[in-house]
Amino acid sequence: AKESGRNHYLLYEPSMDQSSHERMAKENALRKAVERNEWVLHYQPQIHVESGDVIGVEALIRWVDAEGRSIPPKDFIPLAEETGIIVPIGEWVLKEACMQNKRWQDAGYPRMRVAVNLSAAQFSKSNFTQSIEEVLKATGLDPECLELEITETMTTDVEKTRYILNELNRIGVQISMDDFGTGYSSLNYLKNFPIHRLKIDRSFVKDITTEESDARIVGVIVSMAHHLGLDVVAEGVETEEQVEFLRQQGCDAIQGYYYSSPLTAEQFEKKYLQSNSI
Ligand code: C2E
Ligand code: CA
Ligand code: CA
Ligand code: CA
Repeated sequence: AKESGRNHYLLYEPSMDQSSHERMAKENALRKAVERNEWVLHYQPQIHVESGDVIGVEALIRWVDAEGRSIPPKDFIPLAEETGIIVPIGEWVLKEACMQNKRWQDAGYPRMRVAVNLSAAQFSKSNFTQSIEEVLKATGLDPECLELEITETMTTDVEKTRYILNELNRIGVQISMDDFGTGYSSLNYLKNFPIHRLKIDRSFVKDITTEESDARIVGVIVSMAHHLGLDVVAEGVETEEQVEFLRQQGCDAIQGYYYSSPLTAEQFEKKYLQSNSI
């Protein structure tokens, strides 16, 4: 709750509408969720186009509330970011994802990467790199099996971002640029930052088989990425036609409902790890 007298007074203004109260209620619920660890990670496979192997999984958070409802990230991540609650949530995600990947490796399944989404607040914390090192140490996961997904909306400070990414490279974790092409400075990112992988946003992939311009854009992104020595993952791939087009363009890996929606760890293990083929 706000502390200043002015804000206290505002609570009784008629303009303090329903939505502000809802927001506060939601913020409280979110803080309780942190205390109770009401989070679950789902895992969505990334399939290597040439081999058909699972080369990685993206960890995607769900909030399972006290009533057992599964709440998708779009309904709580924005508020978590505004309030800073994303920091403890993000720490939980990182640790859980690394632990899970290590468990799978220890069970003898083929090695793969686990990709974790970062938010601006996490990335900007002064001890961010150190916290990554600590999680790797605590879980025993090899750094190259952890991938951090960043977006260009995360930071505006080029020098700071470059510094942090260099540090992460030194540790040996992989960096991918998420939602590539949706921002205003995607090319600046490629030019300035040490990253390993581009994830082409679903908004470009969606219409590649019907929109000539989208098809061309995706083709150019793949070729540009390869010229820069980066791998390309296409996101939100839903149809066989899209897979075929992306294969022709030389896209390295595919993530999307065509192969699988995000699965619980148990479902993922059954479907992708316990059987030899996909
Ligand atoms: P994102 O990082 O772009 O993740 C991809 C989203 O697309 C996921 O939604 C995934 O379920 C969905 N998706 C995957 N394949 C397909 C497809 O073929 N078709 C369509 N229509 N959608 C597909 P989800 O899980 O609801 O996550 C939404 C966003 O929430 C993520 O977008 C990411 O920005 C954020 N998010 C998820 N988990 C975390 C987390 O642990 N930390 C942070 N900071 N953000 C997260
Ligand atoms: Ca992502
Ligand atoms: Ca994305
Ligand atoms: Ca997105």
